[in-house]
Amino acid sequence: MNAANRLHDARGVIVREFDVLVVGGGAAGLAAAITAAREGLRVAVVERYGFCGGGAVAGLSGTICGIYEASDDASAPPKKAVWGFLDEFIDEMERRGGLASPVRYGKTFTRVHDPIIWRETADSMLTNAGVEVFYHTTVTSVLMEGERVAGVTAYSKEGTLEITARVTIDASGDADVVAMAGLPSFIGDEGRVQNPTMIFRLMGVDVGCFNARYGADTIMPPEVSELIREKDASSDYTLPRSKVWLFPTTRPGELLCNCTRIVGSDGRELNTLYVRDFTEAEIEGRRQMREYARFFRENLVGCEASFVNDTGVQVGVRQTRQARGAAVLKNDDVTSGTKFADGIARSPWPIELHAGTRPKVHWLLNDVYEVPYGCFVPERSEGLLFAGRCLSAEHEAVASARVTAQCFSYGHAIGHAAAICVTEDIEPRQVDGRRIRKILNEEGARLDG
Ligand SMILES: Cc1cc2nc3c(=O)[nH]c(=O)nc-3n(C[C@H](O)[C@H](O)[C@H](O)COP(=O)(O)OP(=O)(O)OC[C@H]3O[C@@H](n4cnc5c(N)ncnc54)[C@H](O)[C@@H]3O)c2cc1C
Repeated sequence: MNAANRLHDARGVIVREFDVLVVGGGAAGLAAAITAAREGLRVAVVERYGFCGGGAVAGLSGTICGIYEASDDASAPPKKAVWGFLDEFIDEMERRGGLASPVRYGKTFTRVHDPIIWRETADSMLTNAGVEVFYHTTVTSVLMEGERVAGVTAYSKEGTLEITARVTIDASGDADVVAMAGLPSFIGDEGRVQNPTMIFRLMGVDVGCFNARYGADTIMPPEVSELIREKDASSDYTLPRSKVWLFPTTRPGELLCNCTRIVGSDGRELNTLYVRDFTEAEIEGRRQMREYARFFRENLVGCEASFVNDTGVQVGVRQTRQARGAAVLKNDDVTSGTKFADGIARSPWPIELHAGTRPKVHWLLNDVYEVPYGCFVPERSEGLLFAGRCLSAEHEAVASARVTAQCFSYGHAIGHAAAICVTEDIEPRQVDGRRIRKILNEEGARLDG
């Protein structure tokens, strides 16, 4: 860069100071911010979109998974396995008519949510807790005091924001703050991540006929997968994923469609950390959305008059960068239902690995595993915690641990950890996870069953 090209922004810098700064308003960031604010702290959330919800809303993931145990007994009713902040969010969503009853999803159940009501619910909960929200503000760099994270700078239409905080929580999903600080992180299985999916909403469906024909399980039956494979093999359609999930929603005549499988033109699973991959994923996602919508309309009972109502604001991103923490959740911890003395969240959710032509599912039956506090504390550096899908976890473990109910649990726990750091003037690694577990139990998280 020569002198004529130097960086310049005449709008000036807006400087703000908080006790706790949360980067990202997804499920984890929401729970963390509200929890810390309720401890009487000055808390800010910085969110690049004009609404909260992240993958669940901008990515239209559409259902709250991870609430119920899985079982081989097809007649067993939903058995709840997770409590805490989640319950408060569920109550508020139900009160506003934004959450459907549990629907079958293979060996377990999930609950479909309305993405617009999610936005309103989050706005209201943040406002009531006294959190200061910065929408349309994107974190662009991190403020360091030596090795310690002291806050961030962010882009806004008003100018650069310089926000300092005693504790910063990286709830960006992508471990953006961790990466900006140059702290240890890793990407998937030696750089290979799960594929993104463009989710869309199909309207004009006769849901009664559809359900009568295909049954109550939102994972479509083998006959639908076979038909997809058959049509894909002909030159009529291009349908790269045959195992698809279609969810009736809270709105009449609507199905939420989780069916696309987005890989690059070179056959790679696209990694949306890279601008070129992210762009290709959006374009390919929209193309596949049209193709699957046409297939549904022309082939599935109840879909004869259907049309695409909406897609995600962005392609749905399952996995990008994981922070490397003081502890790592192992693939084996998930499959064997490991419990930890400092476990701060529990999960009954299966490993659902979206790689290759069929998602690989490994069920954890009639059990839960726990996630220890150290998965949210950076391997080194102070002043920083993380929460949400960028937790420190191995590739297949993330394919379970990333779902929404657990992200609420992580945020609940990490909001308390941040509050302890501020009020006792200590660093995240000095907080005993067993103490967080006790506080969560006192607040109804039932981590001890
Ligand atoms: C296709 C797909 C289907 C899924 N289906 C389900 C499902 O049915 N049920 C389920 O429970 N889960 C599902 N998931 C998983 C779930 O949606 C996510 O894992 C979960 O939303 C992650 O929550 P989070 O809070 O960790 O992160 P995110 O939801 O990713 O939130 C991160 C937030 O940070 C913001 N952000 C990022 N970078 C910055 C920055 N630099 N500056 C400011 N803001 C920033 C983002 O805009 C976003 O709002 C699905 C995911 C995908 C991709």
